[in-house]
Amino acid sequence: MLSLDAILPTQIFFDSAVKRYRWKDTRRFVSRESVLVLQRKYLAEQQKKFVSLATNIKNCKLGVSVELADALKRIHVSHAILSVGGVDRLTESDLGQIGSLLKKQYYQGRDEVTGKQFGLKYLIQEAPGQSLAQVTHRLELYAKAGRFTADTLQLKREAMSGKTQMKRLLGQAEHCEECIRYANQDWVGIGQLPLPGQQCSCRANCLCTLVFR
Ligand SMILES: [Zn+2]
Ligand SMILES: [Zn+2]
Repeated sequence: MLSLDAILPTQIFFDSAVKRYRWKDTRRFVSRESVLVLQRKYLAEQQKKFVSLATNIKNCKLGVSVELADALKRIHVSHAILSVGGVDRLTESDLGQIGSLLKKQYYQGRDEVTGKQFGLKYLIQEAPGQSLAQVTHRLELYAKAGRFTADTLQLKREAMSGKTQMKRLLGQAEHCEECIRYANQDWVGIGQLPLPGQQCSCRANCLCTLVFR
């Protein structure tokens, strides 16, 4: 099970006795909107930090794999928090799901298109033989792939709230053939279309979005 300690922005904490967020310094309540604004900022900071580890990875600096895994966890959990609207709304089952998605990102992933294994473990092993630009680019893709966690939770939530159909919308970007094909399918049953970035050539760069009804 995933532990949520220290995933929240540093200025606030969740007071479980009253089930509300408070500022650490004044202990005053923080509105949910402010919490989410802070969480969005925190996510951007963690993404930046994650990508900035490229030099340390290339130089095989001690402890970098732990730092990397930790930042990636914060990225995925922040996406999840933003998706459900607050850390207090994450269920045990959500946490279990995030945990297993993270495992794939660390060392157990397999690309659905190429069948190739992926994971931070491989990135770290291969980094000394790659240029800094290559390593940085790979990290950027991992950082972007955090949205997969948000999409996975959203799909589950929409299905539970009684929605039965999903549709993919193309984002404002160039699209691969697969994304265009998915978008052209219009409304289909929930779960019948891959989530953005899955089974498509855009991968983590995919800007498609989901709608439900
Ligand atoms: Zn695509
Ligand atoms: Zn796309």
